[in-house]
Amino acid sequence: MARQTDTGVALQDFPAGQVTPPSTVVRAEALRKYFHSGAQQITPLDGIDFSVERGEMVSIVGPSGAGKSTLLHLLAALDTPTSGAVYFARNLLQDFREAELAEYRNRSIGFVWQRHHLLPDFTASENVAMPLLVGGEPLEEALRRAREGLGEVGLADRAGQRAGELSGGEQQRVAIARALVNRPVLLLADEPTGDLDERNAEAIFQLIEHLHRSHHLTSILATHNLWLARRADRVLVLEHGKLTSGTEVLAGVGSPAAGIGAPAPGGHA
Ligand code: ADP
Repeated sequence: MARQTDTGVALQDFPAGQVTPPSTVVRAEALRKYFHSGAQQITPLDGIDFSVERGEMVSIVGPSGAGKSTLLHLLAALDTPTSGAVYFARNLLQDFREAELAEYRNRSIGFVWQRHHLLPDFTASENVAMPLLVGGEPLEEALRRAREGLGEVGLADRAGQRAGELSGGEQQRVAIARALVNRPVLLLADEPTGDLDERNAEAIFQLIEHLHRSHHLTSILATHNLWLARRADRVLVLEHGKLTSGTEVLAGVGSPAAGIGAPAPGGHA
């Protein structure tokens, strides 16, 4: 079921397994974002042009403070650019009205943060059901779909457990199930393995790779772990406000712990 915007263009719903034009799921054009910190202007994004095609998994690497989160937030319409444009399919996000933006965030994209942002006193299934409830799904159906989602991330037996009682790796699995419960087109993940030890990071990355395929997702992952990043279809480097191909950076990657760069000047961890 394709919903139409005011301009008559389908806003979402790219039926799984079909090559449905337009094949570009997300596109940034001359994207700039400035912040002011005291008298200083910080420019994490200084003219970003890129697009991601349907079904692609793209990783964005760059030192801490380079602007990876800022970029993902703009793609997710969680923040607005200083100038430039973000398109979802052929739709300019800046043209969306509030209700359309809310629906875009709730249904078209799934967002996974470095820290899971679960509600610790609610059960795993209640946490996963949350986006469905926000979207008006009846409670029983929302919980049923949440349990199904938890099964997909290997946590069927933890559905009734409070999120705060789960391990870090399990909590991130719940967060991934929550991100995908509405069957989004686009998965955005911001350092999804950043808080985990090597073994859990590998397991979570494998899970994302599996779900990327089984959910026919288009995925954009920000990470400073080059070892994981290079498993994507395409690697882009964000540095000094620009996005470039990661081919050179990847040439020297040798160990699972390989990361990129020291924190950028004025950046934060
Ligand atoms: P990364 O995700 O690559 O670590 P971020 O996107 O979090 O980088 O940050 C990029 C730069 O923008 C950093 O210097 C950060 O301090 C700055 N920054 C991010 N958000 C804000 C904000 N709301 N106000 C001021 N500066 C910000």
